[in-house]
Amino acid sequence: MIQLSLWNSLLDFLFPPHCPLCHAYVEERGSWCPSCLQRCGGPHRLLLPAAGQRRIRFAWALGGYRGGLRSLVHDLKYRRKKSILPYIDTYLRHVRENHLFLLPADLDVAVPVPLHAARERERGFNQVEAIFARALSVRQLPLERLLQRQAVTQPLYRLTPGERRHVVQHAFSAAPGAAIAGRHILLLDDILTTGTTATACAEVLMAAGASSVDVLVFASDYGK
Ligand SMILES: [Zn+2]
Repeated sequence: MIQLSLWNSLLDFLFPPHCPLCHAYVEERGSWCPSCLQRCGGPHRLLLPAAGQRRIRFAWALGGYRGGLRSLVHDLKYRRKKSILPYIDTYLRHVRENHLFLLPADLDVAVPVPLHAARERERGFNQVEAIFARALSVRQLPLERLLQRQAVTQPLYRLTPGERRHVVQHAFSAAPGAAIAGRHILLLDDILTTGTTATACAEVLMAAGASSVDVLVFASDYGK
């Protein structure tokens, strides 16, 4: 125990804990400075287009996709820096303690938007699971991979928005043997840009008999 606290003091001396965004010194490893934390915006409801609203009961983002949250998502997704996860946990705790944000009480299971297998192998993990794992275990909501995703073979940038939607819509399906029917499902993603992915996943889940689908994403500027 003594050795551990000595080690931590040495670590703090060599690498002082700092805010992930402005690099100001903070008291504890994994903490943010109050002003950067404030600028993340906090939880807000996402009003999706009609196609999404037909399948999705509520959609929420826990903060804006800018500043601190945007750089954390980029570090995790594109630089595979799992070392930033304590900052994400701190943000999620901050939301729990400082904002009136309640998920529906009837949820049975959380389902991450899947990556296709090759992408997950390349990244080494699913960033959605990494973001939410600790918060879900606090809430005792099981995380189950009930969806799967096929690789998109053609480059999306060549397609019109309508064609792109069609391709995304057909990329998702229920995982083999997935228990979906009769369950209230919380669909999780890291970000929401147009809502096409969330809507496509919700469509698969509702078609497989889910009782309801709510969506929770870490960060989004949708509708702003
Ligand atoms: Zn800061």
